[in-house]
Amino acid sequence: MNSFVGGVHPPQSKYTSQIETEEIPLPKKAVIPLAQHTGSPSKSIVKIGDLVKTGQLIAEATGFISANLHSPVSGKVSDISSRIHPCGYNFDSIIIDSDDKDETVEFKKNNPEKLFPNEIVEIIKNAGIVGLGGAAFPTHVKLSPPKEKKIDSVILNGCECEPYLTCDHRVMLEETEKVVGGLKLIMKVLDVKNGFIAIEDSKEDAIERFRVQSSEFREKLKIVKLKTKYPQGAEKQLIKAVLKREVPSGKLPMDVGCVVQNIQTAKAIYEAVYEGKPLYERVITVAGSVKRPGNLKVRIGTSLSEIIDYCGGFVEDLPGQKVIAGGPMMGITQFNLDVPVVKGFSGLVILAQKESKFYEPSNCIRCGKCIDVCPMGLVPTMISRLIEKERYEEVKSYSPLDCMECGCCAYECPAKIHLVQNIKLAKTLIQQKKI
Ligand code: SF4
Ligand code: SF4
Repeated sequence: MNSFVGGVHPPQSKYTSQIETEEIPLPKKAVIPLAQHTGSPSKSIVKIGDLVKTGQLIAEATGFISANLHSPVSGKVSDISSRIHPCGYNFDSIIIDSDDKDETVEFKKNNPEKLFPNEIVEIIKNAGIVGLGGAAFPTHVKLSPPKEKKIDSVILNGCECEPYLTCDHRVMLEETEKVVGGLKLIMKVLDVKNGFIAIEDSKEDAIERFRVQSSEFREKLKIVKLKTKYPQGAEKQLIKAVLKREVPSGKLPMDVGCVVQNIQTAKAIYEAVYEGKPLYERVITVAGSVKRPGNLKVRIGTSLSEIIDYCGGFVEDLPGQKVIAGGPMMGITQFNLDVPVVKGFSGLVILAQKESKFYEPSNCIRCGKCIDVCPMGLVPTMISRLIEKERYEEVKSYSPLDCMECGCCAYECPAKIHLVQNIKLAKTLIQQKKI
């Protein structure tokens, strides 16, 4: 079966995949960070005291690589100030007190048959759509490749390889038509004949659903079953598995004629184009040590504490418990539950005290496991050792910038060495031109 070299097999823990998505109540207060996408932060166009409606534009993109923001609730702008973000830093944010009425602006529906590709891209840009798989890269940029980059394939990424997370799986089952409709729009924009939906073999029900849904589109669309392995959903590994193409170091998927989009991004594209709906909500997974785990449709700006309350609270609330934004392999541990859901937020995993033990690293035993599992073909042990010994000059020759921080090396390391942290430090020092 199609796959890539390296990778690991952590326990899946995807029991929420069988639980239907629920829509949670509106947040009382929505906190919308102006920086929640790759690129320059948006610029607020509202002021304190303004009344806003759900779906109203509240902050504009400030450049090509930037994105619009829309109000997730109707109510009053109560503050514009610096607030904590899931990445751990503070960013300027618009705070809206909900009036609980959820009055929306009028959404302008479109007939895509009558739209030119550039008009579709403009709608996607205006709707503030960014990649919903985590990186939050503005979608209109991905759909506007330079003329010299000829794109021949689009891959929808339905792998969702992080343990615990199942929100994309639920969207594939519950919103199949919208996902396929979004993919058709992407293919129209890029004038591409080959569409692929790549799904791990652990999601047979989703594979079957797409086979039925896309039957009349079959000559252009292929459902590709991939081996269940982490990180099967990483862009470069996905392209290798589906198209057998290597994205060279420092290059992008478009350099090998390919664009990859996430499942929920395709759905958001469909809703923006057909229904005129901007991006102000998404589906996330809440799993682990909460009383009622599941998949929830939440408004952007909802705090983690409101979500955890909706899920019945923690099973136990002991010191050492971890609340992780994202999956356990690549997610970020949170220290403040006031942080809001942002567009790239795919889930909340709570690891109970006994599951989140901290191990002191010991000496490297040179077993080579970290090298065997690295999907990027790096030598994590060397990068880490050189950083620890402050031999910065030598570290660059081991290409730490190619590391995607998937965590496979650290997961497999018997000595529990902080490989990813050390590699991240190497990347930061290089990016800041300090080495
Ligand atoms: S070095 Fe980077 S890319 Fe390789 S396994 Fe470790 S975290 Fe993943
Ligand atoms: S897996 Fe850990 S112990 Fe083994 S070579 Fe890599 S760093 Fe050393």
